[in-house]
Amino acid sequence: FLEEIEKVAIVEELDPFIELHVKALKNVEVFGKLNNFFPMNSEYTVHLVEQGIAKMLGIGTSRNYSEIIENSNEVAKLAPPRPPVLCPGCPHTASYYAIKKVARNNMALPSDIGCYTLAATKPLEAVETCICMGASVGVSNGLSYVLENPIIATVGDSTFLHAGIPALVDAVYNGAKFVLVILDNNTTGMTGHQPHPGTGVRPCGLKGKAVNIEKLVKGIGVEFVEVVNPYDIRKMEKTLKRALEHDGVAVVISRMPCSLIWNRQRRKSGERIPVYTVTDDCNLCMECITSFTCPAISIRDGKVAIDENLCVGCGVCSRICPEKAIKICQQEICWVRGGVCSKICPDKANKFR
Ligand code: SF4
Ligand code: SF4
Repeated sequence: FLEEIEKVAIVEELDPFIELHVKALKNVEVFGKLNNFFPMNSEYTVHLVEQGIAKMLGIGTSRNYSEIIENSNEVAKLAPPRPPVLCPGCPHTASYYAIKKVARNNMALPSDIGCYTLAATKPLEAVETCICMGASVGVSNGLSYVLENPIIATVGDSTFLHAGIPALVDAVYNGAKFVLVILDNNTTGMTGHQPHPGTGVRPCGLKGKAVNIEKLVKGIGVEFVEVVNPYDIRKMEKTLKRALEHDGVAVVISRMPCSLIWNRQRRKSGERIPVYTVTDDCNLCMECITSFTCPAISIRDGKVAIDENLCVGCGVCSRICPEKAIKICQQEICWVRGGVCSKICPDKANKFR
């Protein structure tokens, strides 16, 4: 590629890695970060990239970006604050709800990098450290020798297989005592559902031999290893309590596929996906809003309500509601998601979902 050209623009975020290597390869004129055509930091937005290319070509930009940025900053002030949230039906929400119930604000909760880091925000607030991939296990190992409080660490399946195993070996070998919850959603959720060695699918799409996480941790020497579906909140809580009593490292594998994948699979197979609704038994205790959280649940006109377009029917909210006020909606519904129009529905269902 470089053989044919004399000038090259390198547009890369983070460190000028490619830029340095291209310079080492050939004496070509490079326009990049090191000669200030593109910024060293910041996310590369359209205007930053166009400004860099325009500067390189010695021409102006196609539009007045200062004005656009100024206007968009004004509009942004009008938007309500929207912290990032876990998806409706996310199994991590259920896991962290159970962890918080068991921890009762009296335990250390180191964590790691993945979608589940979003549980650092209210109301879950169950992620107390996030340093680098796999650090939750090493941090817990260190903390276990100096803290009197119990420790429940969390790490995703992908992150664990990528960087958590050596730290777990060290922790078991050195006699640490903590509970490690491996949040196994059978994918690499945050970056877009890439496969990992536990999924049985290689990046090229061919089948691979899936790593069995429970056998792996047992092989390392962990004596307490249990697999739980986090949607079963009460079982999850009981398992965590037993794990905390174990004298050593205990591993709880919280296993449930990412709700986006689970939902897609059910839609493809034509499975009926229930929708939950809040009945008149609700006494506004707010457990489902201030302790649990789901983007489908909100307050509307002074009442707790579930958005039927967002609910994926995991049923966890119905299990944590002290009044048993959340139930499967019995309203007649056409279960075909993405239907064209209720007018053409042969079953005269009330609405399409
Ligand atoms: S947890 Fe149940 S009773 Fe409490 S606010 Fe939510 S729906 Fe109502
Ligand atoms: S069943 Fe409840 S927790 Fe699950 S997606 Fe629907 S509203 Fe959210």
